[in-house]
Amino acid sequence: MKTLLTEDELQAGVDRMASEIAAWYSHRPLTIVGVLTGSIVLLADLIRQLDMPLRVGVLQASSYREGTTRGALTINSEMMLDVRERDVLLVDDIFDTGHTLVEVIREVEQLEPTSVRTAVLLRKAGRQEVDLDIDFIAFDIPNEFVVGYGLDYEDQYRNLRHLAALEPEDLTETGS
Ligand code: 5GP
Ligand code: MG
Repeated sequence: MKTLLTEDELQAGVDRMASEIAAWYSHRPLTIVGVLTGSIVLLADLIRQLDMPLRVGVLQASSYREGTTRGALTINSEMMLDVRERDVLLVDDIFDTGHTLVEVIREVEQLEPTSVRTAVLLRKAGRQEVDLDIDFIAFDIPNEFVVGYGLDYEDQYRNLRHLAALEPEDLTETGS
């Protein structure tokens, strides 16, 4: 594995994104909805940099079922907050093809929020298959499969403090 972003670089990028979010919403109340599971570390760091009246909820979207290949998407919003007539900021780990966020936005919009915006830690170069502009992005990264800072490979590595790119020899069966 090779390091793509160090812990300090990640922190600086998240702080920068938090400032942009704070400037955009000013002191208006905000409802943040984290997309589980990859956003957990970002969510924890981001919300502590924001000082407007803040509600935090989560929903689960899972697509990577086998290794690094995208599978069918399932969304579980049973744990979601009530977002009706609220300004909602969806927080996800990575904008790859974009299908996950497009589906999640569609789901959340049915709940009639005042607005829905999106923030991601990472945007992968040259991968997007959807027409969606992300409002807040901490980092653009090359097209590599990354782990750490909440992101997993076969449910491992979410606890790494830095962001690492997997190399071919890392892409082995981890015994499922
Ligand atoms: P999309 O629907 O944009 O293709 O995929 C988004 C989801 O796929 C992300 O929320 C994340 O869970 C997963 N994903 C996409 N690229 C990567 C990657 O490089 N590493 C990891 N760990 N997950 C990824
Ligand atoms: Mg995800």
